[in-house]
Amino acid sequence: MIDLDNGFKIEKAEKRLKRFNYNYALITSRSHSPNHHKYHIIIPSQYPIFSVDAYRCLEKEIVEKLFPESDQVVKDAGRFFYGSPDDAHFSLNLGGMDYPMIDEDIWDSSLLILDENGQETEAGECTAHTSIYCPFHDDKNPSAFLDYSAKSNNYYIVCSACSKTFWKRKDEIPLEDRCVPFWSIGQNIIETGISNGTFFMEKIGEKKFYILSKTHQKKEKATAYRYLVENKHISHLTRVNYLADITADKDSYKVDIFKGVINVHIAPIAVKKKDNLFIENYLGETFGQYKDYVKQWLSVYTYTNYRKLPTNIFKGVRGTSKSTFAEMVGEIYKPLSSEWHGHEQNFTYEVEKKLLIVEENEISSMNQYKTLKKYSGQKYSMVNKKFQDPYEVRNNMNIILLANDNVPLYVNREEMPSDEKNNQFFVYELPEVNKERRRADMQKMLVDRLGHYIRTELKDVFDSVTDSMDFYRYSISTPITDAEIDLFNDNMTESESYSDSLIQKLVLMEQTEQSERYGLFIAKGYLPVDLIKMDFELGSHYSAIIKNLKKRRLVAGNADKKQIGGNRFFCYAMTNKMIGMID
Ligand SMILES: [Zn+2]
Repeated sequence: MIDLDNGFKIEKAEKRLKRFNYNYALITSRSHSPNHHKYHIIIPSQYPIFSVDAYRCLEKEIVEKLFPESDQVVKDAGRFFYGSPDDAHFSLNLGGMDYPMIDEDIWDSSLLILDENGQETEAGECTAHTSIYCPFHDDKNPSAFLDYSAKSNNYYIVCSACSKTFWKRKDEIPLEDRCVPFWSIGQNIIETGISNGTFFMEKIGEKKFYILSKTHQKKEKATAYRYLVENKHISHLTRVNYLADITADKDSYKVDIFKGVINVHIAPIAVKKKDNLFIENYLGETFGQYKDYVKQWLSVYTYTNYRKLPTNIFKGVRGTSKSTFAEMVGEIYKPLSSEWHGHEQNFTYEVEKKLLIVEENEISSMNQYKTLKKYSGQKYSMVNKKFQDPYEVRNNMNIILLANDNVPLYVNREEMPSDEKNNQFFVYELPEVNKERRRADMQKMLVDRLGHYIRTELKDVFDSVTDSMDFYRYSISTPITDAEIDLFNDNMTESESYSDSLIQKLVLMEQTEQSERYGLFIAKGYLPVDLIKMDFELGSHYSAIIKNLKKRRLVAGNADKKQIGGNRFFCYAMTNKMIGMID
């Protein structure tokens, strides 16, 4: 029903309606006068309309199409129709056609439907395929059905009698929903989101914000901008926390605008196969008597954040498939694990991770070791990412180190642990896998069973260690293995340890007296013999150190006299490996 009360002439309106050949009824209203025409027009529509919004849109469409110059504002669809007086002018045209529907989205969730059993429900309640009586024609049998199309992400009703598909009307998305990923920070508008487990934060600027939030008119834009500043302004971004969340079904994030803290919740691997025995057997075969330790480690890793855990160091020759275990752990919270190459770079992505898998050959230098030590010790780290302002993260990092033969970790003999309560390293030599039992798809077999295992078996293990976690420096009791004792004791020969302390000295040499004397030589890649002799009694270890450095391919050739600045010293040429180590 259209109300025309702006004085648009009845004759003109009727002429227009007839030209379009629409059926209609027209009746003047109470306040109609010959000088100022006021009347209602009723136009039957092709199908009944079961949505207030759809009805309003249709009215608007008719007014704009038929009476564009009437300047008529469409009124509330629920308005009351006052009776017209007895002497009202009335005309009726039924020789034409009902108003044809262009958009069929004429029903919404509130539509009452009658299913094949005569049960009445709201359309919004239906989630599966439902046979119904067609609401769009006088249906004597259930000739229609309601269903959902994943492709169109919408519900629809198909009627075989009408031979038509009626799509559900999509409601207009409210502003706050359209603004969900947008924030105001300082001078900027940023967009946040999670893509493949990675949280992102990008400056997008005002113009893109309007496009992405679908605000087009000037007034809408002002409202949207105001909404962001008033409700979603982060005055200072302090920290992004990456949290492993065993209860999460999918990755999500929460923003605390007042504290400036963003919590990113990462969901664990989904359940695929339920077969805990397979993993139990694997762990038993791989870790033997240390199986319980490994399970406890896994449970704390899976169920907590920011708890210190021992660093796992796995030794083993080729064929022990030591990466199998590390990669399996990495799959628990895949986006939170990373292979790390030991370099502290300008852009630090690894400090946000929960698991770093470090390959031995990547951690040969003192510098890398220092970085590793630093990472495992500090509570907060700064993240530098390309095109982004640096931000802080709380350290949630655990480390698995994979070594081929010699453990390359530089440990101090004095750090040798005496107690399983404060042991920082679990050092374990993996057994060789029996050739007949070795299988190429082991990794996949484990990963397929992991989702169920971590939610069931590891939950029980975690429940059993929860109360005692504060009792241990690294949350759980960490066995001191023979391999660890080796690491601290015998693994390093005397000359090796001397040359190590020499390397350490070179690394730390800045700002010492020697640096003035030898610095320029070191910088040019020459190792002065005098520098080696300084700390070690002449003759006793000097030649052993040179031998060891040569064996480790850290220096090459024979000592030569070099002159740099005002000084002349006998020097060995350092190899690139050595230069890299002290760099
Ligand atoms: Zn029908």
